Amino acid sequence: MESARIQQLQNLVKEFGAPLYVYDTAIIKNQYHKLLKAFKNIKKVKLNYACKANTNLAVLKYFKSLGSGLDTVSIQEVQLGLLAGFDPKEIIYTPNGVSFKEIKQVIEQGVRINIDNLSILETFGQEIKNYPVCIRINPHILAGGNTKISTGHIDSKFGISIHQLPHILRIVNNTGIKVEGIHMHTGSDILDVEVFLQGAEILFNVAKEFHDLDYIDFGSGFKVPYKKGDHETDINYLGKKLAERFNDFQKEYHKELTLMFEPGKYLVSQSGFFIVSVNVIKQTTSTVFAEVDSGFNHLIRPMFYNAYHNIFNISNPEGRHRFYTVVGYICETDTFGTNRKINEIREGDFLCFENAGAYCFSMSSNYNSRLKPAEILLLDNKPYLIRRRETLNDLLSTTEEISI
Ligand SMILES: *Cc1c(COP(=O)(O)O)cnc(C)c1O
Repeated sequence: MESARIQQLQNLVKEFGAPLYVYDTAIIKNQYHKLLKAFKNIKKVKLNYACKANTNLAVLKYFKSLGSGLDTVSIQEVQLGLLAGFDPKEIIYTPNGVSFKEIKQVIEQGVRINIDNLSILETFGQEIKNYPVCIRINPHILAGGNTKISTGHIDSKFGISIHQLPHILRIVNNTGIKVEGIHMHTGSDILDVEVFLQGAEILFNVAKEFHDLDYIDFGSGFKVPYKKGDHETDINYLGKKLAERFNDFQKEYHKELTLMFEPGKYLVSQSGFFIVSVNVIKQTTSTVFAEVDSGFNHLIRPMFYNAYHNIFNISNPEGRHRFYTVVGYICETDTFGTNRKINEIREGDFLCFENAGAYCFSMSSNYNSRLKPAEILLLDNKPYLIRRRETLNDLLSTTEEISI
């Protein structure tokens, strides 16, 4: 970690306390433009930030200011997007397993909808007139990554199977539903660009069956490095290859289409820093534990996905390297990192987790009746408090008291 960054994080934790999430918009902006640039050979490209990665209203507003659209998976995310100032047409709602009632409420807002279920498609076509839809196809390719986050495999609940294309077409013909877009999202972590391109080929074949599309949405799965030597999706190579195919396809299709992506992790992961304080050091027969004032209630990815987050001692960046197992205070196994080489940790030091911008705060909970951390947004290097630290009153705010 750079010394200017360490200094900045030290100052922030002094001012706002720990645990603390910090997001740097300079990094978000850089990622956003890097991705756009990779697809510069395509005339119309639209990025829709998949906001489940980080739904703080200020983060959403920042994406709006960049010109991004929004990919949402719940009515609440749609509502947050509207509150952040997005035009309904810039929001795409990609639900799975939700009720038709929720779908009806969402389309009353005029947002775009992506349908991933034949039964819903049929009901939608019969009940809702003159409302174009996008269809989520499952091409059954495995883009790699963690089984919890890969969505393209045969047993996956996501999308409408490519093998059901005849059934999709029958519903479209029977109901007269207008299909404006075709979509796939094969899950996080594109490890192999060629596999992704195979999926794209499948999607082009599907697209031919629909005669008035406006866009093709290739979902996401752009992988970012979490540690040294980690694989990162080669977006420039992907951009070059996909642009060639996309431009050829547009010629065949005789219509200019918009290429869409909906990245979450790629846009925000590296912008985030999570700072915790060290409560105690505990020596056991086999290791040295650094026990911190946080747990999987604040950052669940290590326990849930076996994710690796770099851990840095920002209070002692010059200290000699020692080996630690960093654990939380939750009363069950709650390990952030095992056998990590970290600059010597003393009780009271502040540790920083990197890659804490995506799926960290947004997956946090109040387990053990702990309070959620505060969040800071760095805008032009100036810190803004974008969520205050919770208090006990927040925990009690939904409780109905009865006398027993
Ligand atoms: C979660 C999700 C994304 C974002 O995935 P990342 O790996 O964070 O880029 C995109 N599209 C859909 C439909 C999703 O559910």
